[in-house]
Amino acid sequence: MPKKDYYEILGVPKGASDEDIRAAYKKLVKEWHPDRHAGEDKKLAEQKFKEIQEAYEVLSDPQKRAMYDKFGYVGEGTPYSYENNGNGGFGFEDVFRDFLNDDIFNIFFGGQRTQGRSTGATRGHRSSRRGEDININASIDESDVFSGKTQNIEYERYEECENCHGEGVEPGSKWVTCSKCHGSGVVKEERRTPFGVFINQYTCDACGGSGTIPGEVCHACRGTGRVKRRASATVNIPAGVEDGAILKFPRKGNAGTNGGEYGDLYIHVNIRKVSDYEREGDDIIANVHIDYITAILGGEVTVTLPNNEEVEIEIPAGIQPSETVVVKGKGYPNVRNGRRGNFVAKIIVDIPRKVSSKERELLKEIAKMKGVKV
Ligand SMILES: [Zn+2]
Ligand SMILES: [Zn+2]
Repeated sequence: MPKKDYYEILGVPKGASDEDIRAAYKKLVKEWHPDRHAGEDKKLAEQKFKEIQEAYEVLSDPQKRAMYDKFGYVGEGTPYSYENNGNGGFGFEDVFRDFLNDDIFNIFFGGQRTQGRSTGATRGHRSSRRGEDININASIDESDVFSGKTQNIEYERYEECENCHGEGVEPGSKWVTCSKCHGSGVVKEERRTPFGVFINQYTCDACGGSGTIPGEVCHACRGTGRVKRRASATVNIPAGVEDGAILKFPRKGNAGTNGGEYGDLYIHVNIRKVSDYEREGDDIIANVHIDYITAILGGEVTVTLPNNEEVEIEIPAGIQPSETVVVKGKGYPNVRNGRRGNFVAKIIVDIPRKVSSKERELLKEIAKMKGVKV
């Protein structure tokens, strides 16, 4: 099956980087732009230009390029062969196990195939595709969780091409039936060999299987109907947001191809934590250290939240290690209504590893008084 070597067309090695491919493409389209050629030359230039476009379209798209590298073609269609005389002695099933689809069975078992595949809804006219969603990480400080934060986010996305309004053709031009496949999207080739006649059938490489080609490709978007732009979005990250939350901004993603609708923008919120607080619902669960004297006598302990707010905790006399004290309304704001949860202090009683000689004397007296042996 004759394959166009897209790498050769662009004059780059197989492992070429995206930049190399773009650079080669830029240079070649300038060189072969039909407007820069006349007479017989112009025809050659037109053909070259189209080839270059096609090669770039495939090699600049990671998915298409991977497919091309693997199978040597790109498109919805699947290349396959079958033996014209119906003698299936070549183990086709084995050869094409990876490629099996309805088409093979249709033809293999005598089914008629005049045109169209199961995806025929798009055959004969350009298929539009919804734009890809865009995912962006946004980091906020832990203190921002208490107040919320408005953040301006800059990113790159595809937007509808202004020159052609997503049509992919120059204003005034139209999409026309592909002359290579006559609109069917499929090209057939007969090959005679000592084993019989083989028919290769593959997705039309001139139109990518759509059956139509642009009359005059939009110069601004190379026919894709969209162009890459810097975009910005004002993102309101609400108070009370949780780490790992995902905020959706409809239609702020990439423009679709061929007039397809915009994808969405998703902001993944990442909270830069400074505390070791845990979160349960809207409650803050925090370890709070108190002196052993405070545990015995009771008292007041002050804790500062990441937003510098102070929380006063009343410790009742005689509190036991790992008991909790709840301070109402000092937790995280609820992400929907802003109402604050509680601050739940898990008490950790600090036993000093060393005490002063004075403290030791006093403690010894208490021990004597209580009859505790020390
Ligand atoms: Zn355009
Ligand atoms: Zn075609």
